[in-house]
Amino acid sequence: MNGAAGSAAALAQRLQDLRAALPPSTRLLAVSKGHPAEQVRALAALGQRSFAESRLQEATPKQQLLADLTPLDWHFIGRLQANKARPVLRQFGTLHSVDSLALAERLARIAAEEGLSPAVFLQVKLRPDANKSGFSEAELRQAWPRLRELQPLRPLGLMTMAPLGLDAGERRRLFDDCAALARDLGLSELSMGMSGDWREAAAAGSTWVRIGSALFGAKPDPSQP
Ligand SMILES: *Cc1c(COP(=O)(O)O)cnc(C)c1O
Repeated sequence: MNGAAGSAAALAQRLQDLRAALPPSTRLLAVSKGHPAEQVRALAALGQRSFAESRLQEATPKQQLLADLTPLDWHFIGRLQANKARPVLRQFGTLHSVDSLALAERLARIAAEEGLSPAVFLQVKLRPDANKSGFSEAELRQAWPRLRELQPLRPLGLMTMAPLGLDAGERRRLFDDCAALARDLGLSELSMGMSGDWREAAAAGSTWVRIGSALFGAKPDPSQP
């Protein structure tokens, strides 16, 4: 039994294993939702700078606890409620979940007021999935001429999630389709892949894998989403 020390060593080992396994063009976004600030601090001490949260009310106290560190690169990956747009923009430099033109327009307006130029990923849904939101390919192509001009937003790429129940081959085809769509729109970044499917996403050219449980391990508090 070596509790904290053992888990710190295990965390460092998982980080090292992921770094070794990811291709050089794929960056690791550490999804810290459900995990305490101390674990973020431990990863930051090992050189991990990019972290993601999906709920503002969980992220805010965590970010405050870490305010003494050299500023971390915070990404927002959760469903973005319109009434949280301003604090999310203030606290996160990159947003992965921009899933409608109306939301993008609101973000652009508030970002301009705040003097910010956030990086954004447009979330797409390329397979039927009742549990997820996102632009269909047709919606995205239709909105794209407007989206690309929505200053001061900086559209970097596309984000997608695989529905539950796809096999590895189906996930790979989904990620390839997303990569092809991004290329067609002239977008260079891809936010694809989580703990269960980052291998297929990296093989399809993902530039950001969003990894929670495979890095942090089991959640200490099962009530967290
Ligand atoms: C929670 C979450 C992740 C990480 O999930 P894991 O399976 O724990 O790696 C990635 N992306 C989004 C959008 C999430 O909400």
